[in-house]
Amino acid sequence: MIRGSTELVAIVGSPIAQVKSPENFNTWFAQHGKDLAMIAIDLEQQALDDFLATLRGWRNLRGCVVTVPYKQVLAERLDGVSARAAALRSVNVIRREADGRLLGDNVDGDGFLNAARQHGFQGHGQRALVVGAGGVGSAIAWALAEAGVAELTLADVSGERAEGLAALLRDAFPRLAVHTDFPSLAGFDLVVNASPVGMGGSGELPLPLAQLQTLRAGALVADVVTAPEITPLLEVAQRMGCTVQTGAEMAFAQLGNLGAFMGVTPQQI
Ligand code: NAD
Repeated sequence: MIRGSTELVAIVGSPIAQVKSPENFNTWFAQHGKDLAMIAIDLEQQALDDFLATLRGWRNLRGCVVTVPYKQVLAERLDGVSARAAALRSVNVIRREADGRLLGDNVDGDGFLNAARQHGFQGHGQRALVVGAGGVGSAIAWALAEAGVAELTLADVSGERAEGLAALLRDAFPRLAVHTDFPSLAGFDLVVNASPVGMGGSGELPLPLAQLQTLRAGALVADVVTAPEITPLLEVAQRMGCTVQTGAEMAFAQLGNLGAFMGVTPQQI
């Protein structure tokens, strides 16, 4: 129950009804007897200035998770952001300091890696393909580079986006081999769909079926799409004998990272 004493966290985006963070956080707060609650805010773009001023002055608010379409615009408007959020120009979580300053980070990549590690993917020395070089694909690619993958390949329908991200990563991780083309999927230990392809029962695949048939059995195939849980990509991967990771697993695996940044949960939950 929300009381006068309850401290709040929020999630902001538009639309917002589909997000799972409020039920995940509120369940954790209730199970751990915390006087904390998460609320969901569906915000109009034109209200962003007022929203930022309100966040700075909102004394019983500890932080705010950020989702589409505000990750990029808010990264430019906070009082400080982590090195990775600055490089990615994107935040997915904000902490409100006691003096009202707003600090941001992007833990999408950490969430992805937490889930991948639960499937036995360690990162170091391995080879990964990330399909989709937008907001979440960039965060995942950055986390894979930090985890020490030996080779990282990037693909996007927009060649400009894939090349832009490749340039950013080569600059930040000079020893990492970054590619934007690949003859087959046979050499990859990890293939991630970080594009919206396959969402909402479209039945679409992010890569041609013939190419997916070159997947190595035992490779980890992951999707960021949360609905359906088993996307067309993951269905094909299961048939090929691959291990699969769902978008819901990634979302759940970053709860501790989001909560710890806002100061309301431990890192491991
Ligand atoms: P975005 O628009 O920033 O990026 C999407 C990228 O995919 C773009 O660069 C686009 O060109 C590319 N793309 C589109 N179709 C493609 C195709 N057929 N092949 C290759 N690339 C293609 O979007 P985003 O914020 O990165 O979000 C992407 C998806 O990730 C959304 O569906 C979102 O809901 C999901 N998401 C999931 C989680 C999670 O925790 N599971 C977290 C964040 C976002």
